[in-house]
Amino acid sequence: MLKLSFQPYDLRLNRVFRISRGARDRAPLVLTRISFEGVHGYGEGSMPPLYGESAESAAKFLSAVDLSRFADPFDTESILQYVDGIAPGNAAAKTSVDMALHDLIGKLLGMPVHRYFGLAAAQHYTSMTIGLDTPEKMAERAAELSEFRYLKIKLGTKDDRAMIEAIRSVTQQPFFVDANQGWKNKEEALDLVHWLKEEGTVFIEQPMPREDVTGNAWLTERSPLPTIGDEAVQRLSDIKTASSTYHGINIKLMKCTGLREGYKMAVTAKALGMKVMLGCMTETSCAISAAAQLGALADWVDLDGHLDTANNPYEGVELSNGKLVLPDTPGIGLTKENNKLFLP
Ligand code: MG
Repeated sequence: MLKLSFQPYDLRLNRVFRISRGARDRAPLVLTRISFEGVHGYGEGSMPPLYGESAESAAKFLSAVDLSRFADPFDTESILQYVDGIAPGNAAAKTSVDMALHDLIGKLLGMPVHRYFGLAAAQHYTSMTIGLDTPEKMAERAAELSEFRYLKIKLGTKDDRAMIEAIRSVTQQPFFVDANQGWKNKEEALDLVHWLKEEGTVFIEQPMPREDVTGNAWLTERSPLPTIGDEAVQRLSDIKTASSTYHGINIKLMKCTGLREGYKMAVTAKALGMKVMLGCMTETSCAISAAAQLGALADWVDLDGHLDTANNPYEGVELSNGKLVLPDTPGIGLTKENNKLFLP
């Protein structure tokens, strides 16, 4: 019989993180564990403000999950369909169940989750994100991040050019740019994208509001850089519209209910000729290690959510010269678990 346990966890950031729609210095998490015949699988949900989840909503949702009705953890599709059907939304809470289940399955099989999905253990250079601040502060931060192959720059303000110029004065690292829906005028956005290309930008994430399908599609058609849908693309069912709106998608486990749907999204996007990016929220090494298991399907990886946290209770994927290196341990790749977080 499968048994689910969960605990709220307040993940603190070392610095305030600001994007075009708000700022925060901590993230509400829910940490999960699924136990089966003495083996424990671990999972995590991280609830960013945008998608309407909270520690309270996650606890309420997970209280309604009754895994005792399942005797076989390998009945994965049925288990996750049941969890998804309990209530709409709640993507991060659902992810925490999916992740713990895959960790458990990997441990029962004695193999890392990427092998269970038939994928190689990819080693990617992750980008490191610089949140919005004054151009001077953003440049100061960039100068501290020379270890990373790519910087991901949050834009979407009226000072975008000044920010990029300030950062370019201290480094030549290529940029991923994320406007977080902050650009409102498509002609101005196109001008900026041409300029950003000259400044060494690799792609543009969520240029304009997600509701503006025609505006984003207009920009994508003309853009000299790939455009990536993030806020506009949450689950598998969003890819159909996204395929005519963006060149690629940003898959985040916390949006898509976990590894199983994330895998399906990556495969579907690639079949449609789209680019695949793996992203994250503010997360511990648990969720970051899980996401890295899908690395072989990604063109670009932005899995930095654990790097600037003050109380990460797990260890897993390691950063080595800017590359994410997965340990060869069974499951989602944890090298330090934390059973003390859970009641017996
Ligand atoms: Mg984004």
